[in-house]
Amino acid sequence: MNYHKIYLKPKKEESLSRFHPWVFSGAIQSMDGQLEEGEVVEVYGANGQFLAVGHYQIGSIAIRILSFQPIEIGPAFWEERLQRAYTLRQTLGLTANPEWHNTFRLVHGEGDNLPGLVIDLYARTAVMQAHSVGMHYARHEIAEALKKVLGERVQNIYYKSETTLPFKANLDNEDGYLLGGETDETATENGLHFLIDWQKGQKTGFFVDQRENRSLLERYSKGRDVLNMFCYTGGFSVFAMRGGARTVHSVDSSSKAILLTNQNIALNFPDDPRHTAYAEDAFKYLERMGHDYDLIILDPPAFAKHRNVLRNALQGYRKLNAVAFEKIKPGGILFTFSCSQVVSKEDFRLAVFSAAAQSRRDVRILHQLTQPADHPVNIYHPEGEYLKGLVLYVE
Ligand code: SAH
Repeated sequence: MNYHKIYLKPKKEESLSRFHPWVFSGAIQSMDGQLEEGEVVEVYGANGQFLAVGHYQIGSIAIRILSFQPIEIGPAFWEERLQRAYTLRQTLGLTANPEWHNTFRLVHGEGDNLPGLVIDLYARTAVMQAHSVGMHYARHEIAEALKKVLGERVQNIYYKSETTLPFKANLDNEDGYLLGGETDETATENGLHFLIDWQKGQKTGFFVDQRENRSLLERYSKGRDVLNMFCYTGGFSVFAMRGGARTVHSVDSSSKAILLTNQNIALNFPDDPRHTAYAEDAFKYLERMGHDYDLIILDPPAFAKHRNVLRNALQGYRKLNAVAFEKIKPGGILFTFSCSQVVSKEDFRLAVFSAAAQSRRDVRILHQLTQPADHPVNIYHPEGEYLKGLVLYVE
């Protein structure tokens, strides 16, 4: 091991002693040389004791910890971490029956002790996303390790980090295949099929994190008139269709999303007249619609990406939910979500509470939802918990 050393200021080792996987730039006292962004560094306390190894980055989070042991970060390390991640997904039953289900998150950053790395699996394609420069540099080693761990299970590895890496890093990176190439396979989630556009789609192409919530929705859909607002690939819509919904309307402001939704409906329910999709702004649609629905899903994009816009975000959630409460039919069910990491469970609940009170309707919480177990939360990194949802019964 021949890594540069970083020394922390006195008392700044505290968060590492509690296994938090980040070091902020303000905690750094000195370094033993000129550091390159993305390199592996060793971290030491002010009194010289070894603390951890991690990826160095310029920015507020200066080091993302890979191990609290003095180990080499190389092929054996990546293989061991990916194997542990895969073993967990096996434990969760996500790999047992690929005909029925072959879509899940294999690596969820800090939740899998791999800060800065996300890997989603769609049938035989892995989509890999680096959120740190260190992970970007390691991408080929990680792809090699992934092949070893998954064997035949992975035929394609698509690297997609153009929008997730810091701009200024000047990495000259391009999205593309690290293994294999084009494939026309569809991904299967609990027996339903989806076309995933990992090249141009949002995130890695699909919102894997709503899997269990889509299944729950299916159970409530029978005979209902469903509005799936912010539908993206139409995940909730397809599950509502199988659940026996009377009608399903999908809305998204992106016409590409509407195209994908229509394709995914056609793939599972060809020529089924129950479904219609609209490319329209959510607020406009909600304003103009009537009291037509008795099941509404609100799954907006993150309203707050940073803490300083939290207030506006909470206003946004309140307004959005207020229209739904006002217009949903008596006996209606509302699935409402926030995926903003900076919005806490309590904040979100308060925003929805204010919206409910504004409508003066009788509202009860039926379920409190979160991200599924393939998006695990590292207990030492509570920031990893981001998805919040409420299922409400509105009389
Ligand atoms: N519910 C989806 C994920 C939603 S992602 C799923 O389960 O897969 C958020 C979506 O909101 C994106 O597709 C984006 O195009 C859409 N969106 C963003 N702003 C919008 C607006 N003002 N009106 C309608 N849709 C919007």
